[in-house]
Amino acid sequence: MITKESKILVVGGAGTMGSSTALHLARRGYTDIRILDMFQPPSANSAGNDMNKLISTQYIDGIWGRLALETWDAWNNDHLFTPFLHAVGRLDLAQNDESRIASLKRQYDLNVKAGKSDNVEWLRNKDDILRKGVYLKEGDIEGWQGMYIRDAGWVAARDALTAVGAELRRLGVKSVFGSSGTFKSLLLAADGKTVRGVKAVDGREWPADLVIMATGAWSPTLIDLEDQCVSKCWQFGHIRLSAQEGAQLKDTPTLYNSELGFFMEPSPEGVMKFVNEFEGYTRMATCRPFGSEKDITMSVPRSHALNPADTIPEEGERAIRDVIKTCFPQFADKPLFDKAICWCTDSYDGNWLLCDDPRYKGLVLATGDCGHTFKMLPIVGKYVADLIEGKLCEEDRLRWRWRPESKKAADTGREGPQPEDLNVKKGWRHDDHAQDGAISALTGRIRAAKL
Ligand SMILES: Cc1cc2nc3c(=O)[nH]c(=O)nc-3n(C[C@H](O)[C@H](O)[C@H](O)COP(=O)(O)OP(=O)(O)OC[C@H]3O[C@@H](n4cnc5c(N)ncnc54)[C@H](O)[C@@H]3O)c2cc1C
Repeated sequence: MITKESKILVVGGAGTMGSSTALHLARRGYTDIRILDMFQPPSANSAGNDMNKLISTQYIDGIWGRLALETWDAWNNDHLFTPFLHAVGRLDLAQNDESRIASLKRQYDLNVKAGKSDNVEWLRNKDDILRKGVYLKEGDIEGWQGMYIRDAGWVAARDALTAVGAELRRLGVKSVFGSSGTFKSLLLAADGKTVRGVKAVDGREWPADLVIMATGAWSPTLIDLEDQCVSKCWQFGHIRLSAQEGAQLKDTPTLYNSELGFFMEPSPEGVMKFVNEFEGYTRMATCRPFGSEKDITMSVPRSHALNPADTIPEEGERAIRDVIKTCFPQFADKPLFDKAICWCTDSYDGNWLLCDDPRYKGLVLATGDCGHTFKMLPIVGKYVADLIEGKLCEEDRLRWRWRPESKKAADTGREGPQPEDLNVKKGWRHDDHAQDGAISALTGRIRAAKL
């Protein structure tokens, strides 16, 4: 029985789901919370440690529709988050693929049917698109169609994570980082089933009544998740604009094209991030997560934070350049800098794995998504707290349950083909040292990363 005085550890507590969880628990009056992480907030290993992330409300059906409206409300009204929302609207566009256009049209029709036609506008052609996004006037967008969404835009992700970290300190949440905060294993009672705490990689033991694992892309390598999540990486790069170029893009709608990629307005310093859209890469290696009797071959993240010389594959750079050239041919020759890989862990059905671990009493999992959890920073922790307090509605409890049986062979957690492997891609790895040794030393579990 967890009480407000129980000792609670949030592993990965300087990342997205972890810091949100600690925040909601602290706001509910839990008095003995400690976050453990490799890095302090904003964790350099977090997928959320990024200049900006998209947010939108166009999905009005299903769970992501419900959560999108709830989180939009939180970014607009929760004083901790309001400074980081840029409600500039969104252009959600497609070009060649009829099924993508049909899917966007279906979302548009659903909005209209639900009486939300003031939130969306159907853009039939280039002229319609330019009315909303004049910045595309030099772009190669003939034949594009899609939707404008008013209640949408971007959030200053890194700054928001930093603010949550500061709020956790203010609320008295304890923390530990570095090797003492890096999870190595669970500590179990003599029955082998009841969690008593966490052992860190430096041998330090942290007793607890409840352990919450919110370790993002690292989750499957740390706890045996029985193949419920697969970690994959995507890539981004930045260009620098002049003051005049930047001013022309200020407060303009974000652009997302599922066949191409996405971007948001530049920072006040003129730095603009571009991401190409694709099915992601895995990075197959062998490791032994806690709870497994044998080594398992799975996709293992290799983070930019621990391997700062890593950049992105050559084909990824070409794809990012294609986004820039298509939308801003005038910027096509600008150098791409701060090119990095970013890791998420996808569940096969795209829903969170947010549940009690049925194998260990006192272990909660808060992980797995399909690449759009950052926007949920203000609210995801509410659901973890509800789970702990037995308040999750039955529908959510079932949706986010432990579910190894639900994987189907062809599932990838996203649209599109099975991901290719980063190991065979050229151009991203720039150190010849066994940098995986650094991760291995930290986690003590990656056996043989074949690189
Ligand atoms: C290129 C890219 C673009 C994206 N764009 C968007 C977007 O526009 N909008 C959006 O909503 N989402 C976006 N996402 C997805 C979003 O970033 C993720 O869904 C979200 O950040 C995942 O949160 P998480 O808490 O599961 O993981 P993370 O935020 O990555 O947190 C995991 C934490 O676990 C810690 N950790 C790992 N191992 C250990 C250990 N052994 N011990 C202790 N701590 C550990 C890490 O240091 C980290 O702090 C994007 C993702 C990528 C890759």
